[in-house]
Order: sequence, then structure tokens, then C-alpha cells
Amino acid sequence: MNKYSKKEIIKSLKVQQEIFGDELFIPKKKRTTIVVKEPSPMFAEPELFPKEKADWEKATSLEELEKLICNCTKCDLHKNRNKFVFGTGNPNADVLVIGEGPGAEEDKQGLPFVGRAGKLLTDMLRAIKFEREEVFIGNVVKCRPPGNRTPLPDEMETCMPYLKRQVELIKPKLILCLGLTAARGLLKKRESLGSLRGKVFEYEGAKVMVTYHSAALLRNPNWKKDCWEDLKKFRKLYEEIV
Ligand code: URA
Repeated sequence: MNKYSKKEIIKSLKVQQEIFGDELFIPKKKRTTIVVKEPSPMFAEPELFPKEKADWEKATSLEELEKLICNCTKCDLHKNRNKFVFGTGNPNADVLVIGEGPGAEEDKQGLPFVGRAGKLLTDMLRAIKFEREEVFIGNVVKCRPPGNRTPLPDEMETCMPYLKRQVELIKPKLILCLGLTAARGLLKKRESLGSLRGKVFEYEGAKVMVTYHSAALLRNPNWKKDCWEDLKKFRKLYEEIV
């Protein structure tokens, strides 16, 4: 006898799709889950001894921030690092472009998007009338993941506060996330790239759009057409708000 009705199964799959995108999540074995209930924020006790801010959190310029974080050892990615890749561009840019993390060439030079994917990014930006120097280009993680693997959730979580401080200092009006890792890191969304593309989100007062990563476009040139549509929307949004 079936334990669940067809209607219940469809409903549960829809909820899963909303959270995980199109990846199907099948629990491997029954586990006993201990749920530790957090107090509701409404009744949370006020922080009696607010944590003292680290020096880098108090940095008032990008230059100062870079000096304070470039020797970071908070996660294992620093172990294989040649260069810390802070990001480059206009410190007062209206547009911030965010990638995933440095690749081999970026790790060698200490600069973001200087390899093949970087050259394509430069062309993508030019196609919508931006020069690299007028925008700021950064990444979710600042050190190269071994073998260019996707950064792990804890590596992203450890590095994200640095990107957040960069956003606070640059105060961009628009942010373009390249790929799912950048979108997930910044927006904390679990949806698929397909459902994030074409929408406008908000982060620290900036409007955020998501499109394909230029490295993905090198592997799948058929996605370039859809990416071009995203980029045109991004430019239109820029012209409306800047
Ligand atoms: N890919 C990224 O996501 N970032 C870079 O800096 C280079 C390639």
C-alpha cells in the first residue's frame, strides 16, 4: 500500500524544486534528526557584549581593506595560494561584477579574470558599453580552489564577509553575478541558474542580476545567445537607474 498520495508527492517535489532547483534531493537513509530550536528573533536576548569589530571590518578604503585581508588564513584555500586575488577596477564603480574564484592565471598574477574566461568577460562588458576599468571586478572567494573546483560552502561563507565589505565601500548601484556560485554566495538563494536569470534582486542597496559565467560560455557557446539577452537587460537597468 502506498504511504503517500500522488498529490502529496507532487506537492513535496514542488517544494524541493523551489529550494534546490532542478537537482533532485533523495535522502540516502533514514536519519534521526535532532532539531535545535533557535529562539524566535522577536524574543532573542539583546547582545550584552557586542563583538569587537576586526580591523579589516573598520577599513575605510579598498586599499586599506586589501592590506588587512591579503594574508588571510581563515580557510584551507590559503595553503595553495600564490597570490590573494582581491579584485580590481574603479573603487567608486556603479557596476560590480562578481565571479566565483581565481583560476590558475589569476592566482599567478593576483588579478581577477585575466585568463581565457577573463578575455571573454572583457568582450561581454564591451558589448554593453562598459570598459573593464570603469567597473569593479571581484570574486566570491579570493584564493584559488585546487584544480579550479567550485568553492566549498564553508570556504564561501568564510570569504563572503570580505566581499560584503567591498560592496559597502564601493557602493555599486548594480551588481552582475556570473554563474550560480556568485549568485548563491551573494543572494543565499538555492534556485537554479535558469530561475535566477532575468530577475532583479537587491543586495546592500544595489540591484543584482545573474547570468552565465564566462567560463561556462567557453564550454557551451550555445548559451551565449541567452547571456546576450541578460546583458541587454542589465544595460537597460543601468540606464534606468544611473
Ligand atoms: N573565474 C572566476 O570566477 N574568477 C576569476 O577571477 C577567473 C575565472
